Amino acid sequence: MIRVQAVAPETLGAALQLTPGTELLAINDRDLEDFLDWEFLTADDHFKLYVKLPSGEEVEYDIERPEGLPMGVTLEAPRIRRCANHCDFCFVDGNPQGMRQVLYIRDDDYRLSFRYGNFATLTNLKPWDLERIVEYRLSPLYVSVHATDPVVRRWLLRNPEAPDVIPQLRWFAERGITFHTQVVLVPGINDGQQLVRTLTDLYALGEGGSVLSVSVVPVALTEFSKHALVRQPTRQECRAALEVVDRFAAQAVAERGMPWAYGADDLYLQADMALPPAEWYGDFEQRENGVGAVRYLQTRIGAARADLEQETWRGKRIGVVTGEAMGPLMPQVIADLTSATGAQFEILVLENTLFGKSVTTAGLLPGRAVLDALRDRRDLDLALLPAESVNDNLLFMDDVEAHDLASQLPMPVRLSYDFADALEDRLEGWKVGKLE
Ligand code: SF4
Repeated sequence: MIRVQAVAPETLGAALQLTPGTELLAINDRDLEDFLDWEFLTADDHFKLYVKLPSGEEVEYDIERPEGLPMGVTLEAPRIRRCANHCDFCFVDGNPQGMRQVLYIRDDDYRLSFRYGNFATLTNLKPWDLERIVEYRLSPLYVSVHATDPVVRRWLLRNPEAPDVIPQLRWFAERGITFHTQVVLVPGINDGQQLVRTLTDLYALGEGGSVLSVSVVPVALTEFSKHALVRQPTRQECRAALEVVDRFAAQAVAERGMPWAYGADDLYLQADMALPPAEWYGDFEQRENGVGAVRYLQTRIGAARADLEQETWRGKRIGVVTGEAMGPLMPQVIADLTSATGAQFEILVLENTLFGKSVTTAGLLPGRAVLDALRDRRDLDLALLPAESVNDNLLFMDDVEAHDLASQLPMPVRLSYDFADALEDRLEGWKVGKLE
């Protein structure tokens, strides 16, 4: 059973008079378990829908769906699938006390993998999940492989029940499912020859096009992680991993016409090596995973250059808030922005006061750190905040709400994914101290 949270006007849902709180029970003879059932089963032109209204009345609708009319139904948030693993490097273990309860949930949900590109290990699949993935063609999936040697993978996941990943991926591949994969690099465990084996196995499996890419991401730890059990890679270890990645990428370019194996930006940063050019990353398929993110930003700025070159920003002082991971890489991005806009940019690299200094991604910055950094900066005409650091309800990781934060700052602020989104249009009333 799933429940309606909201219904948009002038949609099929509104015409059926579905209201918030309505329980969606079944379509035709299929019980509805979650948003996937709802989306796939309502895609037909003709179906029967069984619901239970908030009044308790059960109703059956025989629906002929007019072409182009959306259902317009927002569902209550799904119950997240819990993770069956206990990785030493788990982000959840790296959370301090006193945060939102949801941040202590270990999620490992193939549905979110398909929908949002979250990485999942596929270690908690039930037989009917396998059938659904194939039936609904949930492809591509984003899979945390880490190692293809089953013993090493079980060690990394701390899960003796974890299935052998290559036969599992092969089973899906034979049924038309594709994957983006990642290896979180844990020094001494899955680097060196283990990394070679993992990439070899994935490359062989991807011959038919099923493994679309693999990224190698250095393990990220916080002050609260299990440092007695896992450590971050050294510069030399990052360089060695990139050598392996480069070898496979060269082979893939020669044989398949694209690099296929990618190092995360952070791996290059920790190796103290230059990033590949933007063309290397193709469609930037793993940029949300920090792979090609810098080159992506530069590409976006380049594409918006004509708009950015208008006079709007010339001479203005603009603060750019980011985390420590992007801090050293940001000057490359800002140089392009400065020449396009004529503005003066100041990069504000913030320490993560919630998770600890070693959590460096901008997307996990707490609102209070932003507030502390900006509340006395009356010299700034505008501040750009990383849009990834708030959720759909505009809450930062520490529950600070973005409008509340903006109301306490002396300058207007904008949330931005790629700078171009926040700067390319002429902003009306942009001096008003509010979130725009
Ligand atoms: S797979 Fe590992 S890192 Fe991911 S949530 Fe589970 S225990 Fe944590």
